[in-house]
Amino acid sequence: MSRLCFHINTVNNRVVMRNPLIDQYGRHIEYLRLSVTDRCDLRCQYCIPKGFKDFVAPDEWLNFDEIARLVRLFAEMGVNHIRLTGGEPLVRRDIDQLVSVLSTIPGVSDLSMSSNAIRLGHYAEKLKQAGLNRLNVSLDSINPQRYAEITGGGKLEKVLNSLEVARTLGIGPIKINCVLMKGVNDDEVPAILEYCAARDFTLRLIETMPVGDTGRSSQSLYVSLESTRLQLSKEYDLVPDIMPGAGPARYYRIKGSASRIGFITPISQHFCDTCNRLRLSCEGDLYTCLGDESRYRLADHLRSGCDDTELEQLIRAAINLKPLKHEFNTNRQKVIRFMSMTGG
Ligand code: SAM
Repeated sequence: MSRLCFHINTVNNRVVMRNPLIDQYGRHIEYLRLSVTDRCDLRCQYCIPKGFKDFVAPDEWLNFDEIARLVRLFAEMGVNHIRLTGGEPLVRRDIDQLVSVLSTIPGVSDLSMSSNAIRLGHYAEKLKQAGLNRLNVSLDSINPQRYAEITGGGKLEKVLNSLEVARTLGIGPIKINCVLMKGVNDDEVPAILEYCAARDFTLRLIETMPVGDTGRSSQSLYVSLESTRLQLSKEYDLVPDIMPGAGPARYYRIKGSASRIGFITPISQHFCDTCNRLRLSCEGDLYTCLGDESRYRLADHLRSGCDDTELEQLIRAAINLKPLKHEFNTNRQKVIRFMSMTGG
């Protein structure tokens, strides 16, 4: 019943009440993935193409005031979970200052970040103080040479050191995201799982998605995670489990331990019927589906003097057109942009 209530916030001493965001299929939109840059300090083989230079110019990025205004507006419409992403969010200068602004916005109850953790050692303490609740770290291998191959030269040691810093500071919970690829890292699941279990991190395996040319070429390495789960069940007693704020992952607890493993299966078992998310690119384009090219240029309206009511109307119009489901299995050519352009 509470979902039918208005969301109430106080802004400049006036109460702002807006209806929750519900799309035409009855899905409540409560989660915004907010990209702060499309640049990244890694070149994962399934993401930004090697040699790619055509990044969004920094003066086109939403500035922190614009981001805060949009987040405030989304929060008034019931979007309570904001995840900062990219590109790599930690390459955006003063990102901790943005975190401290967003963490105090009424209605934002969960502020998280997806990062490759290369620079996290430097930022961890500042992010914690600024109010970051949760962290997802991408880690496709714990073998240094393999990690470097997958990420285009990334140094595994930096990531592992950063994770220790974050853990020691008590930033958490920490989830480790691992894109599983046939013949690349699919033999490493038990090792990564043991690494995570020893540190109280939750491992989540992800199927590769055909987004952009890089994502499409990675489809030859696609692994159905159902087969991985069955394989793992021979070694571990996996008990279905529920995690709060689980999002699209299906979780299993490993019997006899506190560890969990999650499976994110956009290809073999999509979860579009429960999709509650939106994505905002660093230049202020709103995407309502990772598998759809339609975008809504919020920045243009923001910068041409639209008031919040007009912006709200635009956002609602976009949400009304949110597709029922992606077409990754039936139309692989559909999504031109690679993940880092949208915000993964
Ligand atoms: N740099 C941050 C990070 O590493 O988490 C945030 C951005 S990154 C684009 C977000 C996530 O998208 C990462 O976990 C990455 O592995 C995943 N990703 C990128 N391209 C993908 C693809 N084609 N299929 C599946 N996952 C992908």
